[in-house]
Amino acid sequence: RKFIFVTGGVMSGLGKGITAASTGRLLSNAGFDVTAVKIDPYLNVDAGTMNPYQHGEVYVLKDGGEVDLDLGNYERFLGVDMTSDHNVTTGKTYQHVIERERAGDYLGKTVQIIPHITDDIKRRIREAAEGTDVCIVEVGGTVGDIEGMPYLEALRQFAHEEDDEDILFTHVTLVPYSKNGEQKTKPTQHSVKELRSIGLQPDILVGRCEDKLDIETKEKIALFCDVPIDAVFSNPDVEDVYHVPLMVEEEGLDQYVMERLGLDEAALPPAER
Ligand code: ADP
Repeated sequence: RKFIFVTGGVMSGLGKGITAASTGRLLSNAGFDVTAVKIDPYLNVDAGTMNPYQHGEVYVLKDGGEVDLDLGNYERFLGVDMTSDHNVTTGKTYQHVIERERAGDYLGKTVQIIPHITDDIKRRIREAAEGTDVCIVEVGGTVGDIEGMPYLEALRQFAHEEDDEDILFTHVTLVPYSKNGEQKTKPTQHSVKELRSIGLQPDILVGRCEDKLDIETKEKIALFCDVPIDAVFSNPDVEDVYHVPLMVEEEGLDQYVMERLGLDEAALPPAER
């Protein structure tokens, strides 16, 4: 089974979820069974108790699970039904670990974020991915947030435990324009530096920008973030988010992902997608 971990840099609301869902859609077009997990690093057990003005409307799943709107994007982009097991929150994880502690499951051990919370996060991801070919795991928030740290550590351990060719890290970041019309890569460099400081090296970088990234911008990102230039993709502003899969397909994101994960041989030929 393959896992694609999607993190975000610089700021939230960038389009990380849409990028992740678009990647999933292209893999599903290529004939793979794709699912997704959304990680929300807040202490609410679910989104049902949160103000819709802050997070958008609550999305209700088939099993009654009240979750973040992102799960709605995944269901629509991937054409699959999800359950509340596809939404991992800090509230759910801690609640489960604390209940186990009270039941005496840890047999006198000191219960800690590492390894008990991180183990529970890894278990939830593996269980949600069961029976599929590819699982896309989106980490909510931005790299560097205190709340997100246990998740990034869990993903680091997860990648260590799996084969290299089964894991891909995609980092979605902001590429703003300066006043004189230049695409600036510094925010991207800083967020990748932050990721690396916790032991994660992205395999793919997706730059959210008003327009497509210039070749010079891609070269700079490739050099400073230590990825091949073919691993740098644009996600420009579009009128309709359902066009994003087409935009990223144009630059060959699906092809690159399939090659890196060794899925290209098993994929449907482009004419049949
Ligand atoms: P994040 O996961 O980074 O918080 P989302 O994927 O939820 O961000 O997207 C945030 C907002 O930006 C949504 O309203 C979404 O429709 C919009 N959006 C995402 N990608 C694009 C794009 N390429 N062009 C225009 N709007 C976009």
